Amino acid sequence: MATTLPTLLRREDCPSCGKDIENDPRYAAWCEHCGWNLIQPERGPRPSRIDQLYRRLGRRYGRSLLAEVKKHGAHRPSVSLSTAGAFVIASLVYVGAIGLALLGVAVLLASRGSLFGIFLAVLFLALAWVMRPRLPRLKDRAQTRAELPALFRHLDRIADKLRSPRIDVVVITPEVNAGYGRFGWRRRRVLFLGLPFFAALSPPERVALLAHELAHGINGDPGRALFLQGAITSLLEAHSVIEPDSIIPGPEEGFSGYFSIPFRIVQLGVSRAILAVAFMQLILAYRDSQRAEYFADAIAADLAGTTGALGLLERSHAAESVAAMTWLGNAPDPVAAIATKLRSLPPRELDRIRRVEEIAGSRLDATHPPASAREDVRRSEPSRRQTLALSESDSQSIDRELEGFREPIGRTIVDDYLAAIS
Ligand SMILES: [Zn+2]
Ligand SMILES: [Zn+2]
Repeated sequence: MATTLPTLLRREDCPSCGKDIENDPRYAAWCEHCGWNLIQPERGPRPSRIDQLYRRLGRRYGRSLLAEVKKHGAHRPSVSLSTAGAFVIASLVYVGAIGLALLGVAVLLASRGSLFGIFLAVLFLALAWVMRPRLPRLKDRAQTRAELPALFRHLDRIADKLRSPRIDVVVITPEVNAGYGRFGWRRRRVLFLGLPFFAALSPPERVALLAHELAHGINGDPGRALFLQGAITSLLEAHSVIEPDSIIPGPEEGFSGYFSIPFRIVQLGVSRAILAVAFMQLILAYRDSQRAEYFADAIAADLAGTTGALGLLERSHAAESVAAMTWLGNAPDPVAAIATKLRSLPPRELDRIRRVEEIAGSRLDATHPPASAREDVRRSEPSRRQTLALSESDSQSIDRELEGFREPIGRTIVDDYLAAIS
């Protein structure tokens, strides 16, 4: 029998195990005794065998790495055999691209004007062009040191303390997240700061977030190495160019389209093989990459203390709930609405998100280990004191500086939301 408690909570019997549960009608109901309703049935088609393998592999890697980090602590990864393997494959990709270009020139010279020779040469040269190494370029509007002096002052303090290179520019984003990357020929260091996320953080949590991001400059993450990233980008480009739209020709292609089927099958095979090589590099570097993330967390905890680091991870859990904010389209200040939501989730809902994440486990395509695993590591070690503070007044100066972004970012949030539901 359901009875209403004064705090909106409803006491009811779990439909699965019959035990007493206390649910908040504003959130999904679930049972802490038997796990009822923690796993939602998957929508859409059944995942392919490759996808299933991929997920199983991710979960297994994640579990064993978590056990290792809890036992031996988080350290800067030294280059392991598997990461070295990823670098060897990347070298072969570059050698392959140069080889294709040379082959194209050689065939062209030897063709003596034969149509087939020229066709072959152009094909090789085009493939070499597709696979040319390229640097990631920053497309977003970025803020400089002069535009955000208070934020940069704080970033520089953290960078200097970590002996990590300073950030060059900051991109303010509508995301409930933050990130770090390097772009262009000058390899500029860019901090991506999600405004609604940052707005929800307390000063120690802000120290933890910025320290984690700055730690990316020194944490030895092979997944962010330009050499590896370049090779993977080349392969993904080549894959998307070579992959046929479909094997069966469309009606507009007529009967002759059927003659191209064997070629399309070859195209599909080649493009899949290229994709497999790209994935292989990712999987080989995955473990050291995730180790580097745990190490960045440890660095962040050294500065922000265990409380700040755990607070940040709790906000990351809460970020899961933002996707369910269906009323966002009518909020006068969406940034503030999300920030309030991130700070006001009831413990039971946070607990549910944590458990769902634990069941799902690590994913090979995620840049970070699950927040629940990162929390687990923090809780398993002796508590650390905060060693670098952001005062309340400095924190407010940063907020004032970011005030001008609220309105445009809020508009983007609503536009993205409306586009997602339409
Ligand atoms: Zn139950
Ligand atoms: Zn990270």
